[in-house]
Amino acid sequence: AKDSGKGRFKVYDTALERTHEADQQLGAEMRRAFDAHEFTLMYQPIVRLPDGAWTGLETLIRWPHPDRGFIGPDTFIPIAERTGLIVPLGTWILHTALGQMAAWDAEFGPGVAPRELGVNVSARQLREPGFAGEVREALSFSGVSPDRLVVEVTETAVFDGGVALDTLLEIVRLGVKVALDDFGTGHSSLGLLRTVPADTLKVDKSFVAGIGGSSEEAVIATAMIQITDGLHLKAVAEGVETTAQADTLYGLGYRFAQGYLFSRPLPPAEVRSRLTEGQLA
Ligand code: C2E
Ligand code: CA
Ligand code: CA
Ligand code: CA
Repeated sequence: AKDSGKGRFKVYDTALERTHEADQQLGAEMRRAFDAHEFTLMYQPIVRLPDGAWTGLETLIRWPHPDRGFIGPDTFIPIAERTGLIVPLGTWILHTALGQMAAWDAEFGPGVAPRELGVNVSARQLREPGFAGEVREALSFSGVSPDRLVVEVTETAVFDGGVALDTLLEIVRLGVKVALDDFGTGHSSLGLLRTVPADTLKVDKSFVAGIGGSSEEAVIATAMIQITDGLHLKAVAEGVETTAQADTLYGLGYRFAQGYLFSRPLPPAEVRSRLTEGQLA
């Protein structure tokens, strides 16, 4: 650390270095974990309001770390983006999730597993040349119809246009759907909706959380449903935890939701048994 002669600067530098070192260590461990097939995928239902029927599943990655317990994607995905591991990891996620969907279709017949499969795709993946080709390959390998795949991207990943947007357009030409994730939290403007070929807006949970009263969040959630209706987009409310929130959202016009109220992210075996039981909550 640079010793500026002032203790607080030194402390600050040291803390930064420690974080950087920890990140590097985690990055190396991720590489090992990837090679050792330690990552797993969970699937969280996206439901129709008001009956709660499953219309989709969002793929969410998990890292059950051998010593440190469970490490969440908010911790390790940003590191994977910096190290570039997100590229092979992302390809693995696509193949695994699509393969899983194909397996459920084969077991239960068409129309039992939810129609849509959401897969989160990071900015780094969209900037990788050949990513659209990977998507095409994963689709044809699995045999899942392209219009059942929903690529979830954040506003920030595509707001500056350029390669990321080009890649997204290439993916759309395959017939794949696009959802704008965490909508309302990024650095974008509503003008983005004219350039990004989105089919769905996922309204961030921070707006859903405060929706009870006459809060600013409720005003924003109302404006968002008006925009999606007007532009013929599908709105999915994220992070719905209470029946009060679900009722309010339904009253505002929301017809799709996701959150702990309906289901936590589920391991594949659990999805399977829910499909066996006819799926309703
Ligand atoms: P996200 O795409 O916004 O995913 C939704 C997050 O909200 C998930 O956290 C989910 O478990 C959580 N969630 C669902 N329902 C509720 C609820 O009712 N209340 C609350 N408080 N949270 C709820 P998770 O699985 O920890 O993932 C965090 C983020 O990590 C994701 O946010 C996404 O940005 C990223 N991520 C997860 N899986 C992947 C992946 O496979 N690839 C990439 N690139 N990113 C991923
Ligand atoms: Ca998402
Ligand atoms: Ca989200
Ligand atoms: Ca998020």
